[in-house]
Amino acid sequence: MKIGVPKEIKNFESRVGITPAGVFELVNCGHQVFVQEGAGEGSGFSDDDYRDTGAFLLATIEVVYAMADMIVKVKEPVDYEYSLVKKNQVVFTYFHFASSRELTEAMIESKAVCIAYETVRDEDGLLPLLTPMSEVAGRMAIQQGAKYLEKPIKGRGVLLGGVPGVPPGKVLVLGAGVVGVQAAKMAAGLGAHVTILDINMKRLRYVNDIMPNHVVTEFSSVYNIKRHIKNHDLIIGAVLIPGAKAPNLITRDMLKEMRPGTVMVDVAVDQGGCFETTIPTTHDDPTYVVDDIVHYCVTNMPGAVPYTSTLALTNVTLPYVLKLANLGWEKACELNPDLAAGRSIVKGQVVAKELLEVFELPF
Ligand code: NAD
Repeated sequence: MKIGVPKEIKNFESRVGITPAGVFELVNCGHQVFVQEGAGEGSGFSDDDYRDTGAFLLATIEVVYAMADMIVKVKEPVDYEYSLVKKNQVVFTYFHFASSRELTEAMIESKAVCIAYETVRDEDGLLPLLTPMSEVAGRMAIQQGAKYLEKPIKGRGVLLGGVPGVPPGKVLVLGAGVVGVQAAKMAAGLGAHVTILDINMKRLRYVNDIMPNHVVTEFSSVYNIKRHIKNHDLIIGAVLIPGAKAPNLITRDMLKEMRPGTVMVDVAVDQGGCFETTIPTTHDDPTYVVDDIVHYCVTNMPGAVPYTSTLALTNVTLPYVLKLANLGWEKACELNPDLAAGRSIVKGQVVAKELLEVFELPF
């Protein structure tokens, strides 16, 4: 199979879909890999690193799309790429369709086979291709939140760990999934007081078992959220309803209940966000203020730490890329229900039923 690896063109996105180690594996299986020049630079891989493992380097993104039977990338195609995606071409990447009707319609029109990383689901119901990026984003959420709590960047001026004689800051985490647990772990490590909410009691029991005593679990309800937002310094939005838009857990009205300078990091922004006031932001202008509350809503947080993120991502995607390349997408999906769960739009047909509900699609 001919596999294309374009350079990501989303703002501040330096990850790359396949590493030289991945190219090596694919070439060994008899495939041809076409990598756009400079695609790996942001993650520390030179064109020569790719050439040395057998890739063909191509000068432009247009040629990469034109040559490939399958595109492997990181983020969803941006509008410039819509017309480059070809009929019957397999596109294996994060799509997050639920947050963009425009992208959904463009991919329907392309008649490509869109397999979304974020809905590949293993036999335990877990999302193996979302996990490593969620781990990165969860840890980063606290790093970023701690920074924006500083006064010069409009935060409350609270040091999360406190100091001897001064109590630590308080962190509220909404969702005790992968992002939430990693965020809670980092916040606890800094010495902050952490409250973590979920609607899944199994997750709360797990968090209660593994976390230190200054991480407190509570059931997620409107009542509890309203109670906690009044006295927490940093709020992390980390909820997920797979394949659907995130629920609005903090409404604009509720911001008035919070203390000025409170920081809200909406990691769930890529699924539409779990705060009513969430607007997607980018790494070059990551925050904005609504009613004195600082919002950080960057859709591709792991893109800021591409060295770590590319390796973490490709560790888990490569086995699936190999299956798709070796067997073809139809056979690979037939034999691997986890991969089949990633099929979102196939040759103009929406196959992910959650998407039909989100957009009330007539397609
Ligand atoms: P996950 O499935 O592991 O966890 C989500 C948790 O949310 C689950 O435990 C679920 O029970 C809980 N939940 C659902 N509804 C809830 C509610 N009303 N109140 C409290 N909890 C609720 O998902 P994850 O891997 O942790 O991902 C969380 C979000 O972060 C997703 O939207 C994901 O796409 C996003 N994400 C964003 C970035 C970024 O760069 N912005 C990076 C990685 C992941």
